[in-house]
Amino acid sequence: MQKVSGRLLELVDRLDTLGSGPSLVELANAVKGVNLTLADVQDFVRTNPRSYQRTSVVLRDRYELLVMTWLPGQSSVPHDHAGSICAVQVLQGTAMEGCYHVAADGYVDLQYETAVHSGEVTAGQDGGVHAVRNPSDATQSLVSVHVYSPPLKNFRQFAARPASVEPESRLVHKHTPTFVVVGGGFSGSMAAAQIIQRASQAEVRIKVVLIERRGAVGEGLAYGTQDPAHLLNVAAGRMSAWPERPDDFVQWVRRRKGDVLPTDFLPRQWYGEYVRESLLQTARTAGPWVELDVIFDEVRRVARHPTSGWMVHLTRETSVRADGVVLAIGHRPPSDPPGLRWAGLRTRFIADPWRPFALTVVGPEDPVVILGSGLTAIDAVLSLCHKPKRAPITLVSRHGLLPQAHTSTPVKPTDLKAMVSGLLDSAGSVAAHELMRAVRQKIREAAQDGGDWRSVVDGLRPHTAPLWEAMPTAERRLFLARMRPFWEVHRHRMALKVAEQFQSLLDAGDVRLVAGRLESVQTQDDGLWLVLRELPSRRLIEAHAAWVINCTGPVPSNSVESNPVIGSLLVDGWLRPDELELGIETTPDCRAIAADGSDVADLFVVGTLRKPAIWESTAVPELRSQAAVVGERIVDSLVGQQHAVAVI
Ligand SMILES: Cc1cc2nc3c(=O)[nH]c(=O)nc-3n(C[C@H](O)[C@H](O)[C@H](O)COP(=O)(O)OP(=O)(O)OC[C@H]3O[C@@H](n4cnc5c(N)ncnc54)[C@H](O)[C@@H]3O)c2cc1C
Repeated sequence: MQKVSGRLLELVDRLDTLGSGPSLVELANAVKGVNLTLADVQDFVRTNPRSYQRTSVVLRDRYELLVMTWLPGQSSVPHDHAGSICAVQVLQGTAMEGCYHVAADGYVDLQYETAVHSGEVTAGQDGGVHAVRNPSDATQSLVSVHVYSPPLKNFRQFAARPASVEPESRLVHKHTPTFVVVGGGFSGSMAAAQIIQRASQAEVRIKVVLIERRGAVGEGLAYGTQDPAHLLNVAAGRMSAWPERPDDFVQWVRRRKGDVLPTDFLPRQWYGEYVRESLLQTARTAGPWVELDVIFDEVRRVARHPTSGWMVHLTRETSVRADGVVLAIGHRPPSDPPGLRWAGLRTRFIADPWRPFALTVVGPEDPVVILGSGLTAIDAVLSLCHKPKRAPITLVSRHGLLPQAHTSTPVKPTDLKAMVSGLLDSAGSVAAHELMRAVRQKIREAAQDGGDWRSVVDGLRPHTAPLWEAMPTAERRLFLARMRPFWEVHRHRMALKVAEQFQSLLDAGDVRLVAGRLESVQTQDDGLWLVLRELPSRRLIEAHAAWVINCTGPVPSNSVESNPVIGSLLVDGWLRPDELELGIETTPDCRAIAADGSDVADLFVVGTLRKPAIWESTAVPELRSQAAVVGERIVDSLVGQQHAVAVI
């Protein structure tokens, strides 16, 4: 057995320090950071005239490090990566990486090849079928180092199409411009609907492929609940999915469910149905030149096609070639609370309270601790208390703040134009504490006149986008660290009915709220024993729980760990994260900004990932406008092309 030493050992050390599930970027950075040369791996280079050689350097539970050697003309068989991510550095020669399409007859067809030259590092998620070959027609071997995490096991191999077997797609070839929308929540469904509607009106030929990893479109994380007690936190009159038809949701509910008022707070479940129907109805009534294809699968990788457009690789289904991609991946499904890995018994920890039937395991005699006290926690409490609940529920959150309630009659927003323009300094910037001071002053004035603080908070709503834009990074950071929790509970309020139900549970002592943090957790025969540190008193409080529920709320899918699509695009430089890690950088018309600062014309983003540009990128009014902009840009880009072809 060869000894691992020098820079190869340094790479092993770096890989050992990565956690149990390193991200694609971490893996690629570890390889780039060491920057091996051929001399470093010489002892592991093996050749065999019959086949390329794989030499294992280190095999751990979490990863495998290999050196691979291809003689001129040798190649691997097309294969997938079966759940492993991979980083590769070429140390000698050029690797041609072929990307394949799995055809209906079971053969794979080569789509395109990308050259990876000596010294370069590439990394990929597990999506798609690929093969590597040494194109050299001279004598030079191709040598590369590969890290797979977890080790590559049980992968599938595919048969490349023999020259004698004609593929069906080669017989009929007519290219329809194809746009893939990744994510079928509100943002993705309405982006697809907008593209379809506009293409239909402009008589533009187009295919929209909407890919969603959950079992339904239209719902996403927010509107998939089956519990009718979970209400929208915005009145029905402000929840239309279409910017130009403000009463569309209210009209839909009146047709489908019965009479309602625009001021009513309706079940979130209805809203999911409404979004789904808006999309499907738009597709049904579109012209025959517009096609919608919905695929229920997870997108694992979006890779640039060397000629133009993208290849979108899925977990199970065949990869899709796209002229453009819309990322609408929204929130990451909750797992452990942000920044805290749950250390207690996992079978007693409900990491994702939005998962269907997640809370049905909790019995009426089971004491519960809920991490978080925002809207998600309130939803969980209402679900747990449908039937009389005899054991206590403890909510614990850092500030112990609860969302405020809406009023029974809507308040009139205060006109804050003068206040907002007075806040801008000579450079057009706004200081976070000045803004908060001005808002507090307005609230005091409103109270003196017998008004309500809600009218001031709602009066700020039309100004949040320009104010956010005017805040320098340091001020944004200050706002996020010090003011955000207080702003959120006033801005995102609960329906009055929900607030009243919750208050009666608090008054009855069925629910208690602790401001503080989780200090420790121990497993006992009958459940969990938690120690909470109350703040600011620092007093220790003990709580027995049969279940702990993570209700720390939605977090954007903005990191490589949170979504495989993000990983591959970040590594390849097609996306650029923002400095404050709120999401990614985008242009005002929803295009991605690449790592080198250029606009990516055929990669669009809708939703919470756009928070760095538009603070309110989680609210329906902003999301429906973003979907409309994307629809307009995509269809406009095709109108010129297709009409020009028609004239010729
Ligand atoms: C509990 C809750 C209640 C809310 N209530 C309101 C309200 O009353 N009013 C309001 O204006 N806003 C509300 N919001 C804000 C809400 O976030 C937005 O209204 C909107 O639903 C966001 O939709 P989205 O499509 O951007 O994101 P999401 O809802 O997160 O949807 C993203 C979708 O993309 C899919 N996806 C992600 N990655 C992949 C992948 N790699 N491959 C395939 N599919 C993928 C996910 O499965 C998901 O379905 C609420 C949010 C929550 C969490």
